[in-house]
Amino acid sequence: MSDLNNTIKSLRKEYREIFLKSAEEIKAKVEALRPQGLKGEIFDKYERGSEGFLWQKKVLDLLQNDISKEIYRKLNEILAYRAQFNCTGCATCCNLACSEFSPEELKEKAQNGDNFAQQFLSVFIPYNSKEEAREVYPEYIELLEKNKEYDVYFYHCPKLTEDKRCSDYENRPQICRDFPDNPLSILPDSCGYKKWKEEVEPIALMLHSMVEIIDFYCAKINSVL
Ligand code: SF4
Ligand code: SF4
Repeated sequence: MSDLNNTIKSLRKEYREIFLKSAEEIKAKVEALRPQGLKGEIFDKYERGSEGFLWQKKVLDLLQNDISKEIYRKLNEILAYRAQFNCTGCATCCNLACSEFSPEELKEKAQNGDNFAQQFLSVFIPYNSKEEAREVYPEYIELLEKNKEYDVYFYHCPKLTEDKRCSDYENRPQICRDFPDNPLSILPDSCGYKKWKEEVEPIALMLHSMVEIIDFYCAKINSVL
């Protein structure tokens, strides 16, 4: 499970604990389907039609159908609840976006087909320094520094007008439309969705971790089938 362990190391502390708990839960479900007496592991290569092979098929079915459907049902409930809150138009998310990736790393990711990185770079440009970003919203920078265990880079969108409006609203990319759906984002106090985020965060993080772990299991199993 070296890939999953690398992922865990890079997670923020609170999410890491949830992630580990979810990983244990999924592992227990996988083990519950293990054929009696089978010695191998779920990511081993088995002969087609063998007990191990059929175990992998059952696990894929459980993860991709039963568990995933339930996860997406709950995630949709969380999103539906978000509709009860409103954007106050503070523009912080346009003026002060943060990423754990430097501009060079984002460019590399975008060139390798990472859709999020491509969208991010289509709107955001980096601040010249953290101090320049700090002048925009010092309390938010402080909050981010307190919550992130690694260095973060700050960006802003030149499409934001002086009166805090988006000058290209109709063509804004999906990441702008989806904000702040990502359960790992940290919202400023000025954000109208802050209360929603605080209420749903524990369950949203748990669901997010399950999605990441299920993706990991499915990719690994499919690579040996
Ligand atoms: S494109 Fe518009 S909505 Fe998106 S970050 Fe820029 S100003 Fe904000
Ligand atoms: S930070 Fe929140 S309230 Fe402010 S503009 Fe973005 S979504 Fe709206």
